[in-house]
Amino acid sequence: MNETTTHTEAEVADPKVLLEHHLKKLKLPTILAEYDRQAQQCGEQGIDHPRYLLRLVELELIERQRKMIERRIRAAKFPATKSLDSFDFKALPDLNKVLVLELARAEFIVRRENIIALGPSGTGKTHLAIGLGLAACQKGMTVGFVTAAGLVNQLTEARDEKRLMRLQTSLAKLQLLIIDELGYVPLSQTGAELLFEVISQRYERGSTIVTSNLTFEDWTSMFGSERLTGALLDRLTHHVHILEMNGDSYRLKQSKARKARQAD
Ligand code: ADP
Ligand code: MG
Repeated sequence: MNETTTHTEAEVADPKVLLEHHLKKLKLPTILAEYDRQAQQCGEQGIDHPRYLLRLVELELIERQRKMIERRIRAAKFPATKSLDSFDFKALPDLNKVLVLELARAEFIVRRENIIALGPSGTGKTHLAIGLGLAACQKGMTVGFVTAAGLVNQLTEARDEKRLMRLQTSLAKLQLLIIDELGYVPLSQTGAELLFEVISQRYERGSTIVTSNLTFEDWTSMFGSERLTGALLDRLTHHVHILEMNGDSYRLKQSKARKARQAD
């Protein structure tokens, strides 16, 4: 009797070792890190046990969400850190700012719609695409960023190494795929066909953002085939938002402004 009592008292007197062990096993690192401090605070503030537990569980959820978003951003492989917050819409008065901000809510991805951003070099196409991609990551969506040339290289390499299907499956699974700089580098026939397959496999399954310095009329010469370009545009533009980014190069404008300031 005495022995049992002593044993139970010892456990109650120091439950932390066992609690911490269980929290680790249950993979609740935030509750593990916070339970003691929160218990003190809740004690001081007269907060009851269900609310104490609620606090801990909410902290765990918030931290999980934060880590998931971090993972999504890392997996997307953005080439630079850009967000829509730093995008100067005044530089492109013809760009529909309301539409862009609406697209940043990522509902177009739920609807599996596409975006094509067209305009000459330096007008912020990549910046905007990264900004929309980042916004999608923050909504918890899976995103991938590639340049058209990089994607064709990846696909060609995968085909040579007999793992094309695996790469195609992983590309098709992404909720948003951003293909940047279509048209900067001419495509080989195989390259064009591999790229077409990616777009085709994503049709009505996921969203794709394409940026290009070419107008649609010039896409045929880039893909080298009217038939392929027609079929590709057909799929890409079935549910699409077109962002016309016609303006002066932001880079050029900035360096001109810098030079003007230095000359003063
Ligand atoms: P593009 O992809 O159209 O060639 P980028 O997005 O690479 O152009 O833009 C070139 C540089 O200018 C980047 O550093 C980008 O952040 C900046 N930039 C371009 N347009 C804007 C804008 N409207 N607001 C803020 N920065 C911009
Ligand atoms: Mg670019």
